[in-house]
Amino acid sequence: MDIQVEQSCPQCGAPVTLSEDDRLLTCPFCGIKNFLQSKGAFRYILPDKLDDTDRSQLIYAPYIRLKSNIFHVLEDTISYKILDTTQLGFVIPGLPPTLGMRPQAMKIKRLTLNTPGRFLRLSVKAKVILEKAVKLSRLAQPKGGTLFHRAYIGDSISFIYLPLNQDETHLIDSVTDTPLVELEEITSYPLKGTPFNPRWQVRFLSTLCPRCGWNLEGEGDCLVPTCSNCDTAWETSAHGLQQMEWYIQPGDRYTGLYLPFWKVKAHVPALEIFSFTDFIKRTNQPIIPKPQWQDRVMSFWIPAFKMRPKIFLQVSRGVTISQWRVNLVEGHIVPNLYPVNLPRSEARQAIKVVLAACAASRKNIFPYLPEARIKNADSSLVYLPFVDQGHDWVQPETGAVISKSVLRFGRNL
Ligand SMILES: [Zn+2]
Ligand SMILES: [Zn+2]
Repeated sequence: MDIQVEQSCPQCGAPVTLSEDDRLLTCPFCGIKNFLQSKGAFRYILPDKLDDTDRSQLIYAPYIRLKSNIFHVLEDTISYKILDTTQLGFVIPGLPPTLGMRPQAMKIKRLTLNTPGRFLRLSVKAKVILEKAVKLSRLAQPKGGTLFHRAYIGDSISFIYLPLNQDETHLIDSVTDTPLVELEEITSYPLKGTPFNPRWQVRFLSTLCPRCGWNLEGEGDCLVPTCSNCDTAWETSAHGLQQMEWYIQPGDRYTGLYLPFWKVKAHVPALEIFSFTDFIKRTNQPIIPKPQWQDRVMSFWIPAFKMRPKIFLQVSRGVTISQWRVNLVEGHIVPNLYPVNLPRSEARQAIKVVLAACAASRKNIFPYLPEARIKNADSSLVYLPFVDQGHDWVQPETGAVISKSVLRFGRNL
């Protein structure tokens, strides 16, 4: 489910509508581009229904919005589920436990220094809420025997605040203007809240290449914009733009699209996986390792873009097993680079699940997962060429196939 955010342009003040995952704001009125940068999760408010009244008396109740793909590695299978929920993060009677469809039904606003009112502190940790949501969605005891591993991949966390006001007797929902609970019943709850915390402020960054001053390119939700003038790629982080290592498998005249992958070099000592040869043997692949694979550090190839869980695993597995067919060169700009919208940190979360998905013999891998630790992980960004084959995109070197409809869907995950 996609949420629309109303945001004013930092240059001309015009109202711009963004998707909640957008990191790049392009103003349709003045044309200026800015990256959005924040120290933590994005924070939003639901628009209230109050007329021209003084809003300084409003209090805001925090809801945690979680989106994640949950994977379970079980004795017989790997199961997955998409979690998308908005749960109350402040324990108090009378407030709705979840915002349900409300954030989708209206344009939400970004919380800024100019938002009057006070903000109730979270009294429930995001992790606790995530676990509760997993239980509610009947994911806690999936069918299929012993649970060897659970992973949350592609998490996105944000806060949505519900505005509340009070009359003499009641706490009132200011979005619907309905009384929620009698004030008498909640005298023991800390309703004072705190003012806007400057750390919550989203900053706007220039989209000029820090190296050569050219305009960086990237779509709204792109986490790694590129410079077509000096062939650099930049990772947006809490500290600003940082130049990153990147590579590409050159395409040919049939290439229609380049898709990004995180190539995560990693050791898994509990399974004695250090080299690509170790991986081929341990996961019982029906191929004979080449002598030079002994010197090739094992790497897991995780899509750097969001997709539905099933196809995410299929593609990771296909490219990881066939990685020896890929020949990378230094990154350089080519047409049709698909935006990176799955962060590097999430790729690391996927390693054990991808390892399980690669196993030709489950019993040699699955039971070892609870003890397995990932060591010496080191990731770089890699673009692979894909060829248009009607309904699918096909990667010629590795044979990975991605349905075109899946890519469209993934942009809204
Ligand atoms: Zn503007
Ligand atoms: Zn540049």
